[in-house]
Amino acid sequence: MKLTLRLILAGIAVISFLFAYCFYLLFLDLGFSDEDLDPPPPRIFEHKLCVVVPYRDRAQELAEFSPHMGKFLHEQNVKYHIIIVNQTDSFRFNRASLINIGWNEADRLGCDYMVMNDVDLLPVNPEVPYDFPGVGVIRHITSPQYHPKYHYEKFIGGILMLTLVDYKRLNGMSNKYWGWGLEDDEFYLRIVDSKLNLTRVSGLTTNSSNTFRHIHGPKRKRDYVSKKNDLKQWKIKRERDRISGLENVRYTINSRSILDFSGVTVTVIHVTLYCDLTWTPYCIS
Ligand code: UDP
Ligand code: MN
Repeated sequence: MKLTLRLILAGIAVISFLFAYCFYLLFLDLGFSDEDLDPPPPRIFEHKLCVVVPYRDRAQELAEFSPHMGKFLHEQNVKYHIIIVNQTDSFRFNRASLINIGWNEADRLGCDYMVMNDVDLLPVNPEVPYDFPGVGVIRHITSPQYHPKYHYEKFIGGILMLTLVDYKRLNGMSNKYWGWGLEDDEFYLRIVDSKLNLTRVSGLTTNSSNTFRHIHGPKRKRDYVSKKNDLKQWKIKRERDRISGLENVRYTINSRSILDFSGVTVTVIHVTLYCDLTWTPYCIS
């Protein structure tokens, strides 16, 4: 009887050992090690800003803008990428479509937030915030209080920041506007219709004369939309466009170039826009 018990116990011991050994081999085979079982150090998620600049024929302004912006963002510890969207066709300028294209590029480059930034507006007060605004928040940087020239209540032009997710939620900007202005006012209507929270930069120690530098003088020619010459476009200026936007901007990228301005690198994408002449015949001047 005693012998039988001993044999049973010895059998159990041998089987347990074999189990443990098999488990050990399996463990090695899966490539685990003790270190793998330790929790990895927490990864701090870094936000990345894409500066989207709608652009045509402003080389001198770009040469001032790029090094200034690079230095400004570097000093704020912002991880950034500057994208110049250069309209190369001969249609009238279409700022909104260029910004829609800039979003596609920003997405490709892995940015999670963007700022549409006119090439001639330089933030000069280091307090002007270019950090991550948060999802659901639209930050108007050149708020009416600080913009050198535009002070109307609904103004959202100049420099406006938001996450890529929110820009997509708004279906970007309308592709309907050709020539100077109006597209930003239509974008204001999109924001009002959405649940997003439009905030204006405030509380700075500067004012409209020394927060931003507006590089070009008052003599620059503008391709105005006038009631007399451009009635069709004039009429839609206060209308919300529910048809066009980020999802249907049509264009071709002809080439990309990388420029260096005193150590600040910018990507220029050279694009040709498409104009549907039956829809927006006023794209030709
Ligand atoms: N822009 C451009 N080339 C043009 C027209 C406009 O590059 O021929 C871009 C540029 O970024 C500019 C912005 O669109 O800063 C707004 O145009 P503009 O400065 O003429 O308008 P403002 O806001 O000063 O009235
Ligand atoms: Mn300007």
